[in-house]
Amino acid sequence: MSLFLSVVPVSEAVATVHRLAGLVPHETVPLAEACGRVLAADVHADVDIPGFTRSVMDGYAVRAADTTGAGDAVPAMLTLRGRILMGKTADQPVKPGECCYIPTGGILPEGTDAVVMAENTEPFGDNILVKKPVAHNENVLQYNEDFKKGETVLSRGRRLSAQDVGILAAVGCADVPVTRKPKIGILSTGNELVPVTETPKIGQVRDVNSYVIAAFVSDHECIPVTYGIVRDDRATFEAALARAVGECDAVLISGGSSKDDRDMAAAVIAQRGEVLIHGVAIAPGKPTIIGRCGTIPVIGLPGHPAATFIVIVVIVRHLLDDMTGSAAPEPVTVTAKLAMNVPSTKGREDYIRVSVRDGIATPLFGKSGLLNTLAKSNGVIRIPAESEGIETGRQVEIILW
Ligand code: AMP
Ligand code: MG
Repeated sequence: MSLFLSVVPVSEAVATVHRLAGLVPHETVPLAEACGRVLAADVHADVDIPGFTRSVMDGYAVRAADTTGAGDAVPAMLTLRGRILMGKTADQPVKPGECCYIPTGGILPEGTDAVVMAENTEPFGDNILVKKPVAHNENVLQYNEDFKKGETVLSRGRRLSAQDVGILAAVGCADVPVTRKPKIGILSTGNELVPVTETPKIGQVRDVNSYVIAAFVSDHECIPVTYGIVRDDRATFEAALARAVGECDAVLISGGSSKDDRDMAAAVIAQRGEVLIHGVAIAPGKPTIIGRCGTIPVIGLPGHPAATFIVIVVIVRHLLDDMTGSAAPEPVTVTAKLAMNVPSTKGREDYIRVSVRDGIATPLFGKSGLLNTLAKSNGVIRIPAESEGIETGRQVEIILW
């Protein structure tokens, strides 16, 4: 009889991690350190931007109407009325038939409504010949056209990019409210595990998962806290979990998550808290545990690295995004033609690693114990629980790693 009669659908597992995820407190960081962080509050423009109507070109401020019909053969001739100095207002308005030199960023003088690029003009005594007409507003940025005072420039939940940091600078946000990076404890369990620095003897494997999980966690704006290799010994396991729960905002345990008698993760979590889910209808990744110790979410991941990876991509990602307060973008997907039939068992969500090239998705069938398929693949296709598989030649959506 299956040890996993009570598996839950992936959707329920995801809903459960959403429910468990607590938002970590906010903190303030200097603007120079804000890139990549998640904004914890909406930011508003403290001033109108720009605060004055300005030129976006070096050239001549004109009345657009004065340039109508201007061309190389018959240029419009305008009287030059001096220069606008950067940051200074013109001392007098520009009258019809006149123009005024203006640098990029200069304040547009009264009486003008457009700027002719210097390249489209030629000096002629005290006059300027305009060889190309400009439309009303051309080469001009209007007063508060970019942002109006009080307007929300960036919303909470946004992961700040380099461009966003520039916008925060423009609105004077020197100290940026961000969510504190959640600390994610990582325990790798197994008597057979050895550190990467050791050469495995017969029966041993190097601890791959600590590194896979830590890298993923860092990528999702969380701080990985690794507790090293934990032996399959009840007292050691309990002590390691107790420490991690005391020091972190969530804990991820790799290995020992199945329902076999020797698998301890579920029992150890239950002893300190509660196991909410043990078994998810996902392949690879069925022996997944979702629980909590007090308010700290604790996830038990299957030991096979490929299974661990699928579960963190499909389920744990939601926990991390929720905790950072990040309005996480949907995963990047592409569509491609399936190169061969992919059978699937009804009632479970299958994630098939694929290699996508030139519009063709080639499935990389392999047991969840294989590492090479992870490296050869650049994404996965998801086969819904109700499907029995996908036929060769069908267009499929690939979730890119
Ligand atoms: P378990 O989930 O503990 O039953 O482990 C399933 C398989 O994954 C076993 O073959 C383990 O040796 C392997 N495994 C468990 N943990 C890791 C790890 N941290 N790195 C690499 N392989 C692992
Ligand atoms: Mg194990």
